[in-house]
Amino acid sequence: MALSLHNINKSFGNKKVLQNISLQIEKGEFVSLLGPSGSGKSTLFNIIGGLFSPDEGDVFLEERKITNRSGHISYMPQQPSLFPWRTVLENALLGQELAKKTDAEYAKKLLTKAGLGDMLDAYPHQLSGGMKQRVAFIRALLSPQEIMCLDEPFSALDAFTRLDMQKWLLETWEEVEQSIFFITHDIEEALFLSDKIVILSSNPAEIKEIIHVPFERPRKEELLLSYSFLDWKREVTEKMEMGNNELKK
Ligand code: ADP
Ligand code: MG
Repeated sequence: MALSLHNINKSFGNKKVLQNISLQIEKGEFVSLLGPSGSGKSTLFNIIGGLFSPDEGDVFLEERKITNRSGHISYMPQQPSLFPWRTVLENALLGQELAKKTDAEYAKKLLTKAGLGDMLDAYPHQLSGGMKQRVAFIRALLSPQEIMCLDEPFSALDAFTRLDMQKWLLETWEEVEQSIFFITHDIEEALFLSDKIVILSSNPAEIKEIIHVPFERPRKEELLLSYSFLDWKREVTEKMEMGNNELKK
């Protein structure tokens, strides 16, 4: 397995945010973390990325313990965070530069495939929101780490751009061997993209359920309108609500 979390617990002051989180992400797997806003998803990502320290528990990459250590995971935050003084190509190559191994030709190929072939020398302020997301994603993809964590990367986009980005993400990811751990609060997005969905409750966040998504790949847009997709959407919605009702007791 690529990444595993063992019994992660985290509080901020008196507030318990994460409770006994254990899960595994296999090599090449696409796993979504689905939970309401404020449930602790970004906190968990920051723990995986080594930016926050868990109160209890550990993070492993294969057999290596990486708790409290950054640089082992490639991480794409909610805001694309491109460097304004770097061109599109220079931004995309950043993760590789840190690893001292750059392949500009491959970067250009991926950027061109992402519709950014004419923008290689442009600066971030010249790009649309969707273009910035693509550059940030390609930067994460080109980084040498085997696991990519994406924190609600498409939440700021309008519905059409978002669907385009989801399709593009799947096409690009299907060519590589990286695992993706993807944060979202959107049930459809999680179902459309993932192999596995981890449902979090909130206050404190515990794993409610892990769902194995049965749809074959490559996934097509038509899937979104199929009866079986709608059935699954209903089922996941009910499971999420079940979590919330228990909280009200
Ligand atoms: P999500 O990403 O699921 O929306 P977060 O992980 O950002 O949720 O936040 C979960 C909870 O932890 C929230 O109540 C938030 O206010 C709190 N929190 C997050 N980061 C910090 C921090 N650095 N200090 C104190 N509280 C925090
Ligand atoms: Mg968040």
